Amino acid sequence: MYRTFYNNEVSKKELNQRVELVGWIKTIRDFGAFSFIDLRDRSGIIQLVIKDKNLIKDLGNEDVITIKGIVNLREQPNLKLLNGDIEVIVEELKLLSKAALTPFIVDDKTDALEDTRLKYRYLDLRRPILQKNLKIRAQITQIVRSYLDRHDFLEIETPLLCLSTPEGARDYLVPSRVNKGSFYALPQSPQIFKQLLMIGGLERYYQVAKCLRDEDLRSDRQPEFTQIDIETSFLGQDELLTLMEGLLKEIFQKIAHYDLTLPLRRLPYLDAIAIYGSDKPDTRFDLKLCDLEDVLLGHTCPFFQDRIRGFVVNNYAHKCTRKELDRLNLEAKKFLSSGLYMIKKENGEIVSSLKKFFNDAIIERLNKHFLQEGDVLLLGEGPYLKLSLMLGAIRKMLGDELNLYDKNSFDLLWVTDFPLFEKRDDGTFTSSHHPFTRPKDESLKDLDSDPSKVLSYAYDIVINGYEAGGGSLRIYDKKIQNKVFEILGLSEEDIKRKFGFFIEAFNYGTPPHGGIAFGLERLTMILAHTDNIRDVIAFPKNLKAIDMMSNAPKPVDESQLKDLGIAIIKNN
Ligand code: ASP
Repeated sequence: MYRTFYNNEVSKKELNQRVELVGWIKTIRDFGAFSFIDLRDRSGIIQLVIKDKNLIKDLGNEDVITIKGIVNLREQPNLKLLNGDIEVIVEELKLLSKAALTPFIVDDKTDALEDTRLKYRYLDLRRPILQKNLKIRAQITQIVRSYLDRHDFLEIETPLLCLSTPEGARDYLVPSRVNKGSFYALPQSPQIFKQLLMIGGLERYYQVAKCLRDEDLRSDRQPEFTQIDIETSFLGQDELLTLMEGLLKEIFQKIAHYDLTLPLRRLPYLDAIAIYGSDKPDTRFDLKLCDLEDVLLGHTCPFFQDRIRGFVVNNYAHKCTRKELDRLNLEAKKFLSSGLYMIKKENGEIVSSLKKFFNDAIIERLNKHFLQEGDVLLLGEGPYLKLSLMLGAIRKMLGDELNLYDKNSFDLLWVTDFPLFEKRDDGTFTSSHHPFTRPKDESLKDLDSDPSKVLSYAYDIVINGYEAGGGSLRIYDKKIQNKVFEILGLSEEDIKRKFGFFIEAFNYGTPPHGGIAFGLERLTMILAHTDNIRDVIAFPKNLKAIDMMSNAPKPVDESQLKDLGIAIIKNN
C-alpha cells in the first residue's frame, strides 16, 4: 500500500493521526533544523515537515516518494491551500523513483516555451492547471453520457478508415496495402455514418468521436479533435434544440455551478449579421450595428457608393485618435479593404475626416439624435455582408479591449436559419454547412430561382462568441437532395463517386432526421476559461501539426513505402 489518503483529503479531522501519502516533490525548503517538502499528487499539495535530515539527503524536485507521518496543526496556515491549516510530520520516507533535473520547473506559473512544454508533455501534465482542464473535459463527457443515456441514446462507434466525408476540409489519407493505389480517408466527422444509422433505424445515436481535418492550424484548431456527435430521428428542430439545451444546462450546472435560463435565445442568422456583424456574436455587450444611409442622407462623399453601416461606442472620443483608428484599421482591412472611418463628438463638436462631405442637416441629425458627448461612431462603406463582418470583428475587439462585459460570465444562444449556400466569388455555390442540410420549407420555392436566398434548418450553439457546436435537420427527400447537388455543381458522376452508397441508402425508407455536433475542446475551453485549445488536450500537436514529443510525422522506411506501392516525390 502506498497511501491511506489523497493529499487534499487530509484535514483537521486526522489531527495527531498517522497517515501514509505518496506523490512528487514540488519543492524542498531547508530551514536549518528542519525542512519542508511540498508534496504534490493529483488532488493537490500538502506540506511535509522533515526533522531528520538524513531522510532527504539525496532528494530533489520531482522525485516520487511515499511517507508515513503524523498530522499536525500548522503554526502559520497557508490560506491558498485547501488543507493549508495542517502539515504532516514525517517519520518514515521512501524514495520510489528518482527524477533527473527537469527541463523546466513544474508549476502553474511557467516561462517555459510552449514547444518545450509539449516536448516534455508528461511533465507539463503534472501542472495543476492542466490537470484541472483535463478533469473538466472528463466531467463533460461523463455528463454527456449520463444525460444521453437517460434520454434513450445509444453510444455507437463508427469507422476511422472510411471514404471522404463532406465537411469540406482537406482529408487525411491512409494508403491501403491490400488494395495498392487506393486510400481511406480519416473522417472529418461521422456525418455520413450517423445518417446511415438513422436509416438503419437506431433513432438516437451519439458518440464521443475523433474528427480529423488537414487544415492550417490556429490557436483554437488542431488536426485531430473530438466532437460530441449526435443524431436523432423523428424530431423537429425545436424538439431537438430543447433536448440539447437540457444537456447544456446540466453541463453548466455541474461544472460551473451556473444556472442557464431555458429556453436559450434563438437568433436567426440574418439578424445576427444585421445586429452584431457575426454569425457567432458575443452578446454579453451591446455595440449594436445600424444602417447609416438615413443619417448621412445627402452626403457628398465620392467613395461612399454602397451600403453604409456602423456602431456607436460611448466614452471613447478621447481615446479614438488618428493612431487608434489606424490600429483598428489593421484589423478592419483584413475584412474590407476600404476600412473603417470615425465620426466623434468632442467638446460639443462633430469631428471627422468625412465632415467636409456633410451638409448642415447631417450634422444636426448626428448632433441631435445620434451622438452624445464623448461618443464615437465607427463606420464603413461596402457590400452588406463584408461590411457587416468587418464591423462585427471591430465590435468584438473593442468589447474585449474596453472591458465591456464580465469575462467570467456565460452567454449562450442559438443562431438559426443559416443560408443553405454560400456564393463563391466566381458565382458558383458551396454548402454553408454540408450538402445534406435541409432547406426550410418556406425556402423550397427559391431553390430554382435564387439559391442564395434559400435558408436552411441549420443551427449553431454560440457561447461567449465561440461556435461551440452546430448541426442541422437533414434532407430525406431524394428529389431535394438531387436539386441541392445540382446547385452545388456536382455531376452525376461526382455524386456517384463521392456519395453513391449513401444516396442509394435513401431509396429504402429514410426517416426525417437531424443532429448536431458539439466541439468537446471548445466546451472545455469555455468552461476552463482558456483560449488555447492545446490547454485542453492531453497530447496536442503544435501549430505546425507536429507532435513535439515523438516528432511525428516522420519519414518512413523505404520498405514500408514499397509495401504500400508508394514513391515519394522529392521537393526541390
Ligand atoms: N458533422 C457536422 C459538423 O461536423 C455536424 C452535424 O451536422 O451534425 O459540423
